[in-house]
Amino acid sequence: MSDCLFCKIAEGLIPSDRVYEDQVCVAFRDIDPQAPTHFLVIPKVHIDSCAQVTADNAALVGHMFTVIAKVAKQLGLDSYRVVSNCGEQAGQSVPHLHFHVLGGRDMTWPPG
Ligand code: 5GP
Ligand code: ZN
Repeated sequence: MSDCLFCKIAEGLIPSDRVYEDQVCVAFRDIDPQAPTHFLVIPKVHIDSCAQVTADNAALVGHMFTVIAKVAKQLGLDSYRVVSNCGEQAGQSVPHLHFHVLGGRDMTWPPG
């Protein structure tokens, strides 16, 4: 999608602090970290949100979870939270599927 912030980050048109990249996804540090370690994992192809996950892209989403586990371990996290805000009311501000990975501090539940 031409006017999508995360598509531009995935393409390298907007710089980011990347911690991982492969053919299908990119992980980079959040610009406004909410924990000592806070990175985002995004697919290179545009998918609006979790609501657009289907049987056709389920393998991609599964792959992103293997990346989450690998990068979290590389960054020294043995306990962390994975969050995906789906839709505006849930707090999604960038309409390109992404998983937040947050760690390095105590977490509370339920989230606000
Ligand atoms: P959402 O609010 O959609 O769940 O998450 C979007 C996240 O993207 C936010 O945590 C926000 O700080 C992060 N973000 C927004 N713009 C940029 C940017 O230009 N670069 C990086 N690295 N993160 C961004
Ligand atoms: Zn996009």
